[in-house]
Amino acid sequence: MTDIPQLTLARDPHENEFIQAVSDVMTSVRPVLEKTPEYRHHSIVERIVEPERVITFRVPWIDDMGQVRVNRGFRVEMNSAIGPYKGGLRFHPSVNQSILKFLAFEHVFKNALTTLPLGGGAGGTDFDPKGKSDGEVMRFCQSFMAELFRHIGANTDVPEGDIGVGSREIGYLFGMYRKLKNKFTGVLTGKGLGWGGSLIRPEAAGFGCVYFAAQMLATRNDALSGKTCLVSGSGNVAQATTRKLIEMGAKVVTLSDSSGHIYDEAGIDAEKLAFVSRLKNIRRGRLSEYADQYPHAVYAPAAPGQASNPLWRHRAQCVFPCATQNEIRKADAYHLINNNVKLVCEGASMPCTADARYIFIDKGILYAPSKAANAGGVAVSGLELTQNSIRLTWLGEEVDNRLKIIMKGLHDTCLAAADAYGSPGNYLVGANIAGFIKVADSMLDQGII
Ligand code: GLU
Repeated sequence: MTDIPQLTLARDPHENEFIQAVSDVMTSVRPVLEKTPEYRHHSIVERIVEPERVITFRVPWIDDMGQVRVNRGFRVEMNSAIGPYKGGLRFHPSVNQSILKFLAFEHVFKNALTTLPLGGGAGGTDFDPKGKSDGEVMRFCQSFMAELFRHIGANTDVPEGDIGVGSREIGYLFGMYRKLKNKFTGVLTGKGLGWGGSLIRPEAAGFGCVYFAAQMLATRNDALSGKTCLVSGSGNVAQATTRKLIEMGAKVVTLSDSSGHIYDEAGIDAEKLAFVSRLKNIRRGRLSEYADQYPHAVYAPAAPGQASNPLWRHRAQCVFPCATQNEIRKADAYHLINNNVKLVCEGASMPCTADARYIFIDKGILYAPSKAANAGGVAVSGLELTQNSIRLTWLGEEVDNRLKIIMKGLHDTCLAAADAYGSPGNYLVGANIAGFIKVADSMLDQGII
């Protein structure tokens, strides 16, 4: 049996990221398919890799010079067998159908693992918010929502942010949805605290990732305290991951953006992190300014086109890739292994290439795939929806406690599934199998649709 459904290869040969994500799941679930003839008989694999719906649309908007510009918008509604489609909106020039199908496909299993009733989807556009004025971003978001509003809804499809979409963009998107529908519902998550948002939502993916890492280390009677950590990225997930690692007594020595990375041997403390948050969230500046502010830190510009990223050459026991897909490749994995890495926990979606992740697993490194490790983000989105439905706002402590319980449950579920199917300690196999079985069984129960 081939691990990638032939139809996917035949229909979408250029969708590299999607094929990578499909192949990752299918390789893991092979023993499940062998044991469960109903899945084959009901073509669960063939159905699960085909989105229920893909919407593509034109997004015209007017820039500050009065020029009309046109971008392409997408929403991939992948699977709603266990709940409304749920997943982020990514605004980045690299966005295309392959990337959004991979993100939506990942969400199907990630969201199932949270135990919340959430299906999988993802969307976005090739619009680049970098360097745009607030007015341009607002006009773009309004035009984007002028089409998207037809397809989403609190019980249908609930988008959230992803790369390039933060609280500013969610605000403009929500405002336009509310105006067009004349309805105030929990149709988007990641909302502002004053208008339906949840405490801890901005921190959830990063905090959850660190809780997951702590659980993994505990299985080897180890802890995060005193560990040196590499974190990539400097957005929401990277900032929250760094904050929680500092709180747990670890030392974070790197952060990055698309222009380069900083290495601070003394460690990024709470005050330096607050500088990064102001720089990135408010001033929308470049990370190179960190080295101007803290001259003992070293800034290295990115070297695109090289087989490895200098960020991953620093020595550390724990690694948290929180920037983007495929940012740790084969050569990076070998650098990390040669520097005695103990744990790799994915904060971004699919940040390790297939080669890199199998190297970590082969060498016995604790490795957590994003669909488990960064599920805290979408889990707290689910909790935001619950609060919207009951018209209540929970205290931050309550949300954080629920997040901890979800991440512990998720960790244990992955280990149990990996054990049951003969791959003890393999979180990749465990996450894929546990997520797949839940969705596949729900599809079986609901018939051929
Ligand atoms: N974009 C985030 C993720 O990939 C959040 C998605 C959501 O909450 O819907 O997990």
